[in-house]
Amino acid sequence: MGAFEELVAGYEPVIGLEVHAQLLTRTKLFCGCANRFGAEPNTLVCPVCLGLPGALPFLNRQAVSLALRAAVATGCTVPPVSVFERKNYFYPDLPKGYQVSQYEKPLATGGHVAITGPGGGEKLVRLARIHMEEDAGKLLHEGFPWSGERSGVDLNRAGVPLIEIVSEPDLRGPDEAHAYLTALRGVLLYAGVSDCNMEEGSLRCDANVSIRPRGAEALGTRTEIKNLNSFRNVARAIEHEIARQVALVESGGRVVQETLLWNADRGETASMRSKEEAHDYRYFPEPDLPTLAVTAEWVEEARRALPELPAERRRRFVSELGLPPYDASVLTQERPVADYFEAAARASGNPKAASNWVMTEVLRKLKEDDRPLVESAVGPEALAGLVRLVDAGTVSGKTAKDVFEKMWATGEEAPAIVEREGLTQLSDDSALRAVVDEVVAGSPDQAASYRSGKTAALGWFVGQVMRRTGGRANPQRVGDLLRKALAGV
Ligand SMILES: [Zn+2]
Repeated sequence: MGAFEELVAGYEPVIGLEVHAQLLTRTKLFCGCANRFGAEPNTLVCPVCLGLPGALPFLNRQAVSLALRAAVATGCTVPPVSVFERKNYFYPDLPKGYQVSQYEKPLATGGHVAITGPGGGEKLVRLARIHMEEDAGKLLHEGFPWSGERSGVDLNRAGVPLIEIVSEPDLRGPDEAHAYLTALRGVLLYAGVSDCNMEEGSLRCDANVSIRPRGAEALGTRTEIKNLNSFRNVARAIEHEIARQVALVESGGRVVQETLLWNADRGETASMRSKEEAHDYRYFPEPDLPTLAVTAEWVEEARRALPELPAERRRRFVSELGLPPYDASVLTQERPVADYFEAAARASGNPKAASNWVMTEVLRKLKEDDRPLVESAVGPEALAGLVRLVDAGTVSGKTAKDVFEKMWATGEEAPAIVEREGLTQLSDDSALRAVVDEVVAGSPDQAASYRSGKTAALGWFVGQVMRRTGGRANPQRVGDLLRKALAGV
């Protein structure tokens, strides 16, 4: 048991996540400005998203279609009517003084996201709702000559379409929160709803955290942590907050409801403000927009646009391709990786070997190169070619690793590299026997030691033969031949 588990042993953490995802539309939610990251500040704006008097919003149909896709992908119920409301608050990045969101009648309710639960089984994390809203702008505190004296505001992001996905408090620790976020991201990526780029802010997460004595039913007072801008920080911040609450309660204190800001550099939370209640926002229906009517056909259209989703694919990789659940869950997190693996598995006829290659070598190289999979020099067919060479005994596993490195660097196919560099595994007994006999004859002391019962010496002999053959000998055949030679057969 780690220090954290020991500390919180008597308590059960209760966590719910609120995830904001920017939708992959061409334009903003209520105007024709481009939805694009990285442009010069305040170049993607118009009277509507600047909140100028008299400007009227009009709803982006594509944004609704993508939000519906997220809803059906997570098994939500979509009521026929939802309502946009104004959420009123003042902040310099919010030119209108309110954010158009949904409150009483959200786009979708219910639904769930499947994660791997304790003990390796599947656990369904329930969703409370998915609603649509517009993003706010962004304050710029650094990177300009005047930074330090003033802050700037960039309104390019103001009005960009978001969905907020609110989970029920079903998560029981930092690991589950991490797993949930991973699974949700997978669903949104597969469905083409969002690019989920946390660095660019297109996926953001707030966490509601409370603790209760183990076995208790009633929920404790919760705090909300904001500013969780990476998967790692989500888990770290939640762990930190659980530990803080436990220590507070253990020393006779009381958790107060508040909003906390996570400081990743210092690894701690700081109080931001006492938590607002919904009535602080004075929600009321947006008078400039009609209610949003979603027909059954529209929902059906969203459903048809969905590909096979990660959870289904994970189950199929286990049942159809015989992968261990762990492999299946790693390989299905991102669709390009899953597609790549599946193509390699089918072309090689050896799914488990293909899985090993993708999970270790391919993912490692991608990380090193920091490039997307589609740009890699080794396609799935080429990888399958290498797997087949190993399976046929043409190259040893060790040699295959070197061949893979060369394939990755040059884009050349495995058989061509093996042929040119003479890397074919020596499985031919007559050739191997000559080397084996030579090694045994040259090491009488070791041979005597083996014959006197120290069978561990066999490993030493195998090593000698491998060295003399430049690693190309088939170690199993070598072992067999050595045993015979040493026994004097
Ligand atoms: Zn605009």
